[in-house]
Amino acid sequence: MSSTSIPQPHPVGETDLECGHKEALFCPSAQPDWEGAKAFGVVTGTVTVPAVSYLAQVLPMSQQLVELTRPVSPAEVFRIAAPCATDRCQHFEDGHCQLVSRTIAHLEPVTEKLPQCLIRVSCRWWNEHGKEACYRCPQVVTNSFSRDEKIILVATPQSRTQREGTVENQETITAKGETPARKNSLLIRY
Ligand code: SF4
Repeated sequence: MSSTSIPQPHPVGETDLECGHKEALFCPSAQPDWEGAKAFGVVTGTVTVPAVSYLAQVLPMSQQLVELTRPVSPAEVFRIAAPCATDRCQHFEDGHCQLVSRTIAHLEPVTEKLPQCLIRVSCRWWNEHGKEACYRCPQVVTNSFSRDEKIILVATPQSRTQREGTVENQETITAKGETPARKNSLLIRY
């Protein structure tokens, strides 16, 4: 697939699959402190080849879940869904999520079967791109330390890159309490 071809999303409600939920859609790569956040997957696999396992039960984010993931952040361990922020999100342009469009343009599918995912009907990625989003979804880790150039490219809002030059969608970990290996690492927010 060409690295410059960004797939166009389906108009919501006009996909060939059972997508098209016209009400509020959920972002499937949300942060734990977003209102209405709920965990629907857990990151397994390895650091270089992560693989999300989709939970049999959606778990509303709670302090207990946050504590379970310490010392790392919940978004490194869980895939979390929350109502899509639309225009308030750096990835949202022209009425669509550009993050999932870049994901499909630059990342290869990692499965040939639809994951058993409980948020599908309300997932923005599914509603915009159907199964092509789902085939790539298991490799997504919301907060990661990946050095994979494609992951960094996909996670970086391109309109901002064009407007402002290089945009670091990353943050240097300096928080007290971090392990030496993580301190000063670059965290990518997918
Ligand atoms: S893209 Fe597919 S697998 Fe991923 S969260 Fe959305 S519905 Fe689930």
